[in-house]
Amino acid sequence: MTAKILDGKKMSAEIRAAIKEKVVLLKEKGIVPGLAVILVGDNPASKVYVGQKEKGCLEAGFASFLHRLPETTSQEELLALIDKLNADKTVHGILVQLPLPRQIDPDTVLAAIRPEKDVDGFHPVNIGRLVAGLPASEPCTPKGILRLLKSTGIPLAGKEAVVIGRSNIVGKPVALMLLAESATVTICHSKTADLAEHARRADILVAAIGKPRFVTADMVKEGAVVIDVGINRLEEGLVGDVDYEPVAEKASWITPVPGGVGPMTIAMLLENTLEQAEKTGASGR
Ligand code: NDP
Repeated sequence: MTAKILDGKKMSAEIRAAIKEKVVLLKEKGIVPGLAVILVGDNPASKVYVGQKEKGCLEAGFASFLHRLPETTSQEELLALIDKLNADKTVHGILVQLPLPRQIDPDTVLAAIRPEKDVDGFHPVNIGRLVAGLPASEPCTPKGILRLLKSTGIPLAGKEAVVIGRSNIVGKPVALMLLAESATVTICHSKTADLAEHARRADILVAAIGKPRFVTADMVKEGAVVIDVGINRLEEGLVGDVDYEPVAEKASWITPVPGGVGPMTIAMLLENTLEQAEKTGASGR
């Protein structure tokens, strides 16, 4: 079998075009979706991600409020800015780009964002709501992954889903979302015994590890749907967590890197911000 490509770039462009149309209608009602992005320090990868988010906002017709703070910013200073943005009616979403410098505790900072404005879906309240199966601001990368999976038309209920990686931003939430779709979910991590054995059972295999070409063809069941979340910067360029060519020979669907999960993440960030703007209207409450 040769896999069909799950084209995140194309799907993301379609979603963003639809968002843009909705923004035009919202603007007629006097509402401009606003996203505040806070970047602390000079992490080069963070700068790239923040630039992409700002570009995405502007293309969609959003207001983008970028706050660049120096590496030496104290936690109190950052919390004070978040307080200000929490109260700002023109700001519907607040995103703090991670990682943060050592002197700042990311958990304290993320918990300071009003849960309704937490368009990244990292606030403990939103994570709790996700666990409880209640409506929540869903984390962008997992939300994008589910959107890609659903686009295959393959029912997720009853499928064996194996997620490799248990981070709070990808592995755990994507596993919860797959469970909510009634898949039978296994989460693997660095201490998992016989990881390949688990992976080989997967109808849906999600790799969110951060290790180039970790998932090899012998770990993949014939006909599996393979989602590669990994972004590994090597001299040869961007490489995923999946050994793409050999795995694509066995899978039924596969996401490329780049052009798979990555573009969906930004589309979902815009969607979460738009939804919040629609909910709160110009009041920002
Ligand atoms: P983390 O480093 O937070 O988590 C990595 C996970 O992989 C951990 O749970 C870790 O296990 C597990 N792991 C590491 N080594 C092994 C191993 N040898 N065997 C099994 N499991 C292992 O990473 P993130 O979840 O934040 O990101 C994962 C990848 O996805 C990265 O490449 C990142 O750049 C990319 N990413 C892409 C996004 C996108 O938009 N496309 C968005 C976010 C991330 P343990 O918990 O035991 O340490």
